[in-house]
Amino acid sequence: MTRIASHRGGTLEFGDSTPQGFAATAKMPLEEVEFDVHPTADGAIMVHHDATLDGTTDRSGAIAAMSEAEIRTAIINYGAGGHPISLDELCALYADSSVDFRCEIKPGVDGRPYENFVPRVVETLQSHGMLGRTIFSSFMVESQDALSAATGRPKLWLVSPPVLRQLGTKAVIEVAKAHNIPEIGVHVDTADSALMAEVIAAGLDFGCWAAHSARQIEKVLALGVKVFTTDRPSLAIAVRNRLHAEVTQ
Ligand code: FE
Repeated sequence: MTRIASHRGGTLEFGDSTPQGFAATAKMPLEEVEFDVHPTADGAIMVHHDATLDGTTDRSGAIAAMSEAEIRTAIINYGAGGHPISLDELCALYADSSVDFRCEIKPGVDGRPYENFVPRVVETLQSHGMLGRTIFSSFMVESQDALSAATGRPKLWLVSPPVLRQLGTKAVIEVAKAHNIPEIGVHVDTADSALMAEVIAAGLDFGCWAAHSARQIEKVLALGVKVFTTDRPSLAIAVRNRLHAEVTQ
C-alpha cells in the first residue's frame, strides 16, 4: 500500500507546521508526518518549514539567530493562533501515535547545511524514543552524508525538478548509489511510470512529494509509489480509501 505522509502537518488543512496540524495528523489513519527542523541560537531545535519566520508567521528573523522563546511568540499564518513548536514537543505529541516521523534536514538562510546539526537531531529523536520510528529526507547530498555518519536509519533524497532535469535520471541514480541513498523522491509532476521503473530497476525505492490536489493524489496512487507527501492529508486518506474500495468491490 502506498504510504501517505502529512506534509508539515497538513499545510492546506491546518496551516504550515502548526501544533493543530501535527496534533490532528497524529490521530489520522496514515503512515507518516513530514516536518522540517532548524536549530535556534540557544540550542533548541524548532519544527518549521522556512529558515526564517518571515513568510509563514507574524514575525520576522532567521530561526538560527533567535532564541526558542522568541520564536515561540510568533503566530503562524492561518494556523488558528498556533505558534512554532520544538522537536521535543513534536516527539511528545507522537509518543502514543501510530504515525511515524519523516524528518527533513533543511539548510539555513544561506542555503548551506547547518554546522554539526544532524547529530543533534538524531540525538534528540533518540532521547525521546522516536529515532526508531523516523525516516529522514533532504534535498542536500551533504546532509545525506551527515545522516549516514550519524545514524543507520532510512533516508531519502528529495530530487527537485531542476536537478532531475539537469542531471538526468541515470546521473541521479549514480549520485544516490555513490552516497548510499536507498530511496529518491521527486515532485509529483515530474513522476511517470518510466522514471519510476528506471529507479526501481536500479534497486532504489521511489516516492513523490507535493501531491496536494485530488488529481495529483490519484496519479501517485495509480503509479503505486512507495510514499507521497501531501498538504491535504484528509483528502489523501479519502482518495486512497475510495480507490481501495473500488478495487476490492
Ligand atoms: Fe519538508
